[in-house]
Amino acid sequence: MSIFDKTKHSALAGRLQDQHSSDYLVRIIARAGTFRALACTTTGLVADAAGRHGASPVAAAALGRALTGGALFGALLKTGQRLALTFEGNGPLRRIMVEAESNGVVRGTVKVPEVIIPDRNGKLDVAGALGRAGFLTVTKDLGLKEPYKGMVQLFSSEIAEDLAYYLTESEQIPSAVGLSVFVAGNGTVSAAGGFLIQSLPPGDDKIVNLLMERIGQLPPLSELLLAGTTPEQLLELLFADVPYDTLEKRALALQCTCSREKVEGVLVSLGRDELRTQIQEQGSAEVTCEFCRERYTFRKDELEQLLARLSTEGRDAG
Ligand SMILES: [Zn+2]
Repeated sequence: MSIFDKTKHSALAGRLQDQHSSDYLVRIIARAGTFRALACTTTGLVADAAGRHGASPVAAAALGRALTGGALFGALLKTGQRLALTFEGNGPLRRIMVEAESNGVVRGTVKVPEVIIPDRNGKLDVAGALGRAGFLTVTKDLGLKEPYKGMVQLFSSEIAEDLAYYLTESEQIPSAVGLSVFVAGNGTVSAAGGFLIQSLPPGDDKIVNLLMERIGQLPPLSELLLAGTTPEQLLELLFADVPYDTLEKRALALQCTCSREKVEGVLVSLGRDELRTQIQEQGSAEVTCEFCRERYTFRKDELEQLLARLSTEGRDAG
């Protein structure tokens, strides 16, 4: 099954979920053209996603980092394009999947959201949950016939470094990525955000070294986010004395593309026999969207209608 569903997505077609006006992303470019950078705050959408999936603290941190990374990657796409990030590891969380669109919309899911493992050095052990061995796959729907697909081994399984490693190795763009999700003692997500910096060709070693030094000296990202540091302020901290222009500020949102019509399509695609068995054995059907946990239920008579439709279509086709 393709990661992207076959129908062309439009922002309006998707079922709009809670909008978080506080979540946004800022994009800048150095006046000298030596780098571009993005920073974002994603607290609202990460908290919403973690709640929908009933995620444990470590699963919420993993999903939140991946969603934030997805938002940053999505902002590098051209209008109408979208991408999927799939992290697969040998840990108990097993898989994180995130989809992002060029318009700031993201959605995501983890395979085993209830995972609980001991902290590591006083921090949520995202790498331990995902597992240190595995792969990151980046799939991009660029509007071409076939989606673009790139894959790297997991670098540290902390998500940010894996994304930076992917960009640097697979796309040959030297990049730095910082992601953070702070989960409070009561399990709620109280801060989330991140940044992405890319060196643009031909590259300027002096600036790259300066930025690496600045990133190294930066207080922990979770501390900055908890203190209310905005994306603009984060970029100012990183690029003080380096002239840059702000290109864009855009809203980010958690939004799914599922709908009752699409679920009907999935049920119909099961085929006549399977649908008939479902009606006879269960009497009804319940389908839960993997990404937003929305539940779609179909009564017996509704399933029978689908079956009737299928039979008609079958006759038409024959
Ligand atoms: Zn959904």
